Amino acid sequence: MGLFDDDEPGEKFQREKGEYCEICERSEKWIELSKCPMCHKYVCDRCKYNMGGKVFCSENCANEFYWGEEDGQEE
Ligand SMILES: [Zn+2]
Ligand SMILES: [Zn+2]
Repeated sequence: MGLFDDDEPGEKFQREKGEYCEICERSEKWIELSKCPMCHKYVCDRCKYNMGGKVFCSENCANEFYWGEEDGQEE
């Protein structure tokens, strides 16, 4: 996707994984994060994608979790 490039010098934000949404990068204290079982990203309430009672970071991961890789490759 590459919406934002991660080329900051480093010291600006030292945020631990799990303390911010890895999709929209919000990091409020009260943020409610869920962990995507596919890519293990943390996502906030706004960004999360619900499917089948599980929470994913995106529809993409949800699809991969349930259907595997469906990219049209057939043997
Ligand atoms: Zn978010
Ligand atoms: Zn994911």
